[in-house]
Amino acid sequence: MFPRFTDGEPSRLTGYAGNPLDRHSELRDAADFRPAAIVTPGARFLVIGTGEAVLSRDAGRLDLGLDRAAAATLEADEERAVFLGNTPDGTPWLALPSPATLDSLSGTGFERIDARALLTGGELDEASLGILAQARAVLDWHDRHGFCARCGTATLAAASGWRRECPNCGAQHFPRTDPVAIMLVVHGENCLLGRQPRFAAGMYSCLAGFIEPGETIEDAVRREVREESGIAVGRVAYHASQPWPFPSSLMIGCYGEATSEAITVDELELEDCRWFPRAEVASMLDGTHPDGLRAAGIGAIARRLIEDWCRAV
Ligand SMILES: [Zn+2]
Repeated sequence: MFPRFTDGEPSRLTGYAGNPLDRHSELRDAADFRPAAIVTPGARFLVIGTGEAVLSRDAGRLDLGLDRAAAATLEADEERAVFLGNTPDGTPWLALPSPATLDSLSGTGFERIDARALLTGGELDEASLGILAQARAVLDWHDRHGFCARCGTATLAAASGWRRECPNCGAQHFPRTDPVAIMLVVHGENCLLGRQPRFAAGMYSCLAGFIEPGETIEDAVRREVREESGIAVGRVAYHASQPWPFPSSLMIGCYGEATSEAITVDELELEDCRWFPRAEVASMLDGTHPDGLRAAGIGAIARRLIEDWCRAV
């Protein structure tokens, strides 16, 4: 019914999933840990300028990890550095926020590139994309959580950037990850795909929605599918996950087994939703669909779910 795998994790084949860093969460609390990482010879700095990565280009090759001097020219703020982790050879990576904008970088030799464009552009390897997802999500969390959610006092970063503490009430705040259920619902030789109005022309993808408090992953899958398509889902099986730093989601990819066939589209969410036979989906994946329809974007977990179902025997 659902695809099964014996050779590795499907998550490893999703975009942003190749982060090789050892985060050393057992060491981050020490006050001298982050300062020591910053001054380590060879340390790499991932600079985020107004929400997007600032990269250098050397001999045509994009590089995400700047040295400390290059980061300083971008007015990157070391006081707000977050320790990301060490590569297997022991090189520390840190994330740094910078006020650099597209305009301010004009003519500097640096480029500021949207993380989605980096995922689909094919210029960065999986390891770099994984580190980027970590940096973007954690710096965005700091940006949006400067005040205590309990008492409103300005909070202070701690634990090398992995906690914020309230000096007034003592509350500790941790970077959040928001779980999203994304699912391919299948019924015999057909799968259920939908189109949001914002999608590129001809694009269809999996249904998805945030998991709510007090809900299991399986229940969230069944609820979202029922809300968006009217389809009842029985058995649900987890398949793969994907960090999705826009701003802080974890996509949890599942297969669901439909127990009904008649679709009622939620027109507030979707402009179309229908069953697609496996052979038609194959043509959407390989770009040969006669009407130009396509299935999910490169690097997206939706594509992983669709491809793995389509090719399962
Ligand atoms: Zn407080």
